[in-house]
Amino acid sequence: MLGTHPRQIKESIFYGQTTSLCETCLSLVPTKILFEKNAVLYEKRCKEHGKKKTLISSDIEYFKKCKDYFKEPDLPRVYQTETLRGCPYDCGLCPDHEQHSCLALIEVNHGCNLTCPVCFSESSPKVHWDISLEDFELRLDTLVESEGEPDLLQISGGEPTLHPQIIELIGLAKKKPIRHIMLNTNGIRLANDEEFVKELSLMKKGFEVYLQFDSLKDDTLLRMRGAKLTDVRKRALENLEKYGLSTTLVVVVKKGENDSELGAIIENALQYSCVRGVTFQPIQDTGRNETFDSEKHRIVLSEIRQNILDQTSLFSPKDIIPLPCNPETIAMAYGLRDKNTVHPITHWFSEDELLKNGPNTISYEKYPELKKHVFDLLSLSTAEHNSAIKLKELLCCLPQFAVPSDLGYDRVFRIVIMQFLDRFNFCIAQVKRSCVHFVTEKQKIIPFDTYNLFYREKL
Ligand code: SF4
Ligand code: SF4
Repeated sequence: MLGTHPRQIKESIFYGQTTSLCETCLSLVPTKILFEKNAVLYEKRCKEHGKKKTLISSDIEYFKKCKDYFKEPDLPRVYQTETLRGCPYDCGLCPDHEQHSCLALIEVNHGCNLTCPVCFSESSPKVHWDISLEDFELRLDTLVESEGEPDLLQISGGEPTLHPQIIELIGLAKKKPIRHIMLNTNGIRLANDEEFVKELSLMKKGFEVYLQFDSLKDDTLLRMRGAKLTDVRKRALENLEKYGLSTTLVVVVKKGENDSELGAIIENALQYSCVRGVTFQPIQDTGRNETFDSEKHRIVLSEIRQNILDQTSLFSPKDIIPLPCNPETIAMAYGLRDKNTVHPITHWFSEDELLKNGPNTISYEKYPELKKHVFDLLSLSTAEHNSAIKLKELLCCLPQFAVPSDLGYDRVFRIVIMQFLDRFNFCIAQVKRSCVHFVTEKQKIIPFDTYNLFYREKL
């Protein structure tokens, strides 16, 4: 007998399905991808903990656009594990992984001179471990075996500048065929020890400092980093400027704390000619994450992108675009720097722009090499001289564009938004495209996301 109930109306559109994590027990759970108003949500269903909806993107158009940027993956030369149990339990990398290491990290110590309430590695002055030169070299060799010529290595920690052999470690890495090396740091030693900055500057070719820079305000830094650090950051930047060391600022973004400062941080970065760009990372809920309240503090890539657009007039929506190797979790904008300002150029590469210019009209279809140049440039691993060369090659393809004769790395300014996966936004499809990887103690290469969620040992 037919029922008499009216049909149920749903407020959301079912866009697709993935596998995510239960936010309570971290089990893999079936997950619907829903569009609701202008938001993309995951609806997760855990047998034990029930149904839960979580914000994934605040911008449906941008979320859909990301899919247009998928490209064929670049794969590693070798894998360290087999595909046996299924993702994410075979990390190593296993042959099921869909991207090589655009950016590899090696942690060289666990100790730190800060105890940040936000720290995925849970470092502090109370923990002590320094990597040996032998262990570090083994990890470098694992990376070189996997990549051939790795694009980008970040020396991380803990606070790596506290390692008693940090200069030797950097020197050792520089002997390997690695294109670009970055030193991740909270900046305290750079601020207080000018001699150290001078020593680093002797190795500055192919080397860059990745400087923690969450806020321009002491009270915010006190809450996010446990210390008033504005003066430290200023002095660190002054020393880096003095010795001409390429620097990228890295900002962990926590909603309600520093998300209103993104424009000011970019403007401040442009006051220093040594700064090559700013990387924004939405807070990842792993490791030590004290005082984190997901309802108040969680922020997603699309919200950061919108904040940047709202808080500076430097970039338009067509300038901050998905990164082809992992479009759903990384966005990038390129600009040409002119002293304290920047002329965005990424919008020149969008297909609509390429098509609308009358007699000069070109398109990816007519110029396949142009597409290759765009994809080459829009890569996390494009760094230092590489980015200037790739930018030059690309701009030469655009008849509308006069390529500046002095185009070098010092004229490049990048904005990157890099979102990592945690118990909220984990997606089995996206994690396979992760291109940011740790090289670990057992000569394994493990995606940043799965390492912090499942593999990292508690200190
Ligand atoms: S995340 Fe990548 S390496 Fe890890 S199990 Fe999945 S496919 Fe394999
Ligand atoms: S986030 Fe960095 S600076 Fe802060 S405690 Fe951890 S390692 Fe140290």
